[in-house]
Amino acid sequence: MLVSAKEMLTKAKEGHYAVGQFNINNLEWTKAILLTAQELNSPVILGVSEGAGKYMAGYKTVVGMVNGMLEELNITVPVALHLDHGSYEGAKKCIEAGFSSVMFDGSHYPIEENIAKTKELVAICNEKGLSIEAEVGSIGGEEDGVIGAGECADPNECKMIADLGVTMLAAGIGNIHGKYPDNWAGLSFETLDAVQQKTGTMPLVLHGGTGIPEDMIKKAISLGVSKINVNTECQLAFADATRKYIEAGKDLEGKGFDPRKLLAPGFEAIKATVKEKMELFGSVNKA
Ligand SMILES: [Zn+2]
Repeated sequence: MLVSAKEMLTKAKEGHYAVGQFNINNLEWTKAILLTAQELNSPVILGVSEGAGKYMAGYKTVVGMVNGMLEELNITVPVALHLDHGSYEGAKKCIEAGFSSVMFDGSHYPIEENIAKTKELVAICNEKGLSIEAEVGSIGGEEDGVIGAGECADPNECKMIADLGVTMLAAGIGNIHGKYPDNWAGLSFETLDAVQQKTGTMPLVLHGGTGIPEDMIKKAISLGVSKINVNTECQLAFADATRKYIEAGKDLEGKGFDPRKLLAPGFEAIKATVKEKMELFGSVNKA
């Protein structure tokens, strides 16, 4: 059964580790992530962007697929199904469809409007026992058409949003989505520290986990980051493994064109990436 992300993140913050949010795109992605979490006895958050939700034929299809897998693959570790960078309307649709967690990204609104909309959704989520993530300070790069510049959040605004009763808070600390450019300045630990001091026990979320050096990840966790989003890294691993299979001509040998064979190397590559991240984040055996 899907669970809210509240308990797993509260434990992570107390235990000084982070739970990974791995975004899903299809059945192979979902199965690879769930099986790895179960094998490693780790809690996990499945992230679904609005674009990915649309691609997978809608939120109800996603809920049906994930719930089916939890049962038929005997997944017993805590799993949250979370809308990533949701709009106000998207969040409402996911709540209705059966998601156990939503993110409302109001970072592009003026702070007053972000607060008003976040507040409304917090009330709905509280009533239904769902977790909710809010964002302050836009996170750079592109996430389904929402483009941000990688700014650092204002710690006072973070406190204003945290005080609305959200479960977890994403604050921009110089992180960006996608691949990091060569001239990237790194994470602003000064901002992170200031945000954590203002928000106390609130689990903080680090978006754009792909390509952040391991020592920075560990330092971010020590400063209160309890949820780390990974998306691009699984995509790169999947694409690379699939490319190698095709370039080696394996799809032309025997029944190598069968999608169950063709997609297998990519599936294994996602599993390996998820395992590596769970070990780095410290969530292994924390289910
Ligand atoms: Zn993000």
